[in-house]
Amino acid sequence: MTDVSETVSGINAAECPYCGQEMQKGILSGDGRSAVTFKPGEKKTGWFDRFLSIGAVTAAKHTLAAFTIDAYYCGSCKKMIFDTDIKQ
Ligand SMILES: [Zn+2]
Repeated sequence: MTDVSETVSGINAAECPYCGQEMQKGILSGDGRSAVTFKPGEKKTGWFDRFLSIGAVTAAKHTLAAFTIDAYYCGSCKKMIFDTDIKQ
């Protein structure tokens, strides 16, 4: 078989729990100074993307330090999902 479908593995695909459409995997990132951004794929937003405010996440109010979060985004529902835990 020479099937090269990219959605077979399941690792890079997630279904939106709201609308059922495939969600876009990407990385949520911020550096504490400028907009929190989301970039599809395995690389976080670069300085050039940030300069142009590409992928700025409007839900982010304030950030205190640099961070990245692996996240899934549904463009139809305007929702983002990521795994997390709260350490006390
Ligand atoms: Zn959705």
